[in-house]
Amino acid sequence: MTEDTSSEPFDILVIGAGPAGSAAAFCAARAGLRVALVDKARFPRDKLCGGLFTGRSRAYYREVFGQEFETDRAVNLSEIEFWYQDRRLARLSDIPPVNLTMRRDLDATLLDHALAAGAVDFTGRAIATLDDAGVSLRDGTRLEASVLIGADGVNSITARHLFGAPFDKETIGFGLEIEATPEEQPPKDHPLRIDFAAATWGYGWSFPKQHSTTVGVGGLHAPNPDMKAHFSAYLQSLDLPDDTRRFKGHYLPFGDFRKAPGRAHILLAGDAAGLVDPITGEGIALAMKSGQLAAEAATAALRDGRPETAYTRYHTALRDMHRSLRIARMLRPIIFAPRWQGAFTRTFERSGTVRMQYMRLLAGEVEYPELARAVLRRLPRYLMNRIRRSRGPI
Ligand SMILES: Cc1cc2nc3c(=O)[nH]c(=O)nc-3n(C[C@H](O)[C@H](O)[C@H](O)COP(=O)(O)OP(=O)(O)OC[C@H]3O[C@@H](n4cnc5c(N)ncnc54)[C@H](O)[C@@H]3O)c2cc1C
Repeated sequence: MTEDTSSEPFDILVIGAGPAGSAAAFCAARAGLRVALVDKARFPRDKLCGGLFTGRSRAYYREVFGQEFETDRAVNLSEIEFWYQDRRLARLSDIPPVNLTMRRDLDATLLDHALAAGAVDFTGRAIATLDDAGVSLRDGTRLEASVLIGADGVNSITARHLFGAPFDKETIGFGLEIEATPEEQPPKDHPLRIDFAAATWGYGWSFPKQHSTTVGVGGLHAPNPDMKAHFSAYLQSLDLPDDTRRFKGHYLPFGDFRKAPGRAHILLAGDAAGLVDPITGEGIALAMKSGQLAAEAATAALRDGRPETAYTRYHTALRDMHRSLRIARMLRPIIFAPRWQGAFTRTFERSGTVRMQYMRLLAGEVEYPELARAVLRRLPRYLMNRIRRSRGPI
């Protein structure tokens, strides 16, 4: 919908039109509320991201937007390779399908859904100031609303307004990427690939798209002070040019979610709330879902005439997601801690069950609480084997 010139305040002001913001704006507008959707970028716009759209993303997309995800502009694969250093651990050819998207296309589609549902379009408009009541745009427009949803990504100005800083430098993640041209790496000839050793407490990826291959490394920022060096080494291992001028970097909240994502009538969703899977780095699915939950909490609070209760409702609605992320953080050292990674990759190489669980996780067929129970069931046998091996033959 185009701009509304009435001076009436909006019910909901959504800041940021990525997956979290467009999902929030779509759900709130669908519920009949007056919604303003602001983004400094004009769409379609690029966003540094692998663009891996998993089974979990597809399931949440269906729940949020009430339709199936259209896969015609994505590369759709059922094959994946896992590597550790120069060793291929596994090539799996019957995984649940994953879609490799370009965020330029994906986010433009999500924004279209939000605008078609009735959200008023303020994209391509920079924000000058933000306060508890709304925002002032650089062009002088003032937008106010009863509830604000900050879906403005990892460098969120809404989180900065609430808490003084958008994220904690000690626990944040960071990623670097290039788009390899078809001449450098023909996407059709290369599989979807994950490299466990490409960064410390992180991994590398090579994701074939329709017209390029997105190659990147990402992981916790603190143990990777020189992520560029990791990336150069990774590109060389793939026989790709490691021209640092092409590197693009972006923070990602790699599992450091905000325990209190908001206050009263101001809510944070997606990366602004730190909602990224701490093992896979997947954030699109949780961004869309948290956008929906934020919109539902805001809608209920407004229907009750108590917008200041929106945060409490939202926090309650996020309980399962937060629990799942806490468990994932607990499991993360098994995969990424340098002293255990050798054991993990050997187990991954040998055990079809472990590989299957990892893939079911990516497909959204299993959530972390269930995975944790499976790990605990296997732990006694694993420990017994370790003890037996360390004793040698009897
Ligand atoms: C290198 C890398 C690779 C990744 N790969 C994957 C992957 O393969 N699969 C996956 O699921 N996730 C991946 N992620 C994570 C994923 O990109 C994020 O979790 C996801 O984009 C979060 O969505 P969001 O809507 O919260 O924020 P964003 O997508 O960041 O959207 C925020 C929006 O807010 C706008 N904005 C920001 N500041 C302002 C402002 N001041 N005023 C107005 N507008 C503003 C921005 O323009 C932007 O449009 C990756 C992240 C990185 C860094």
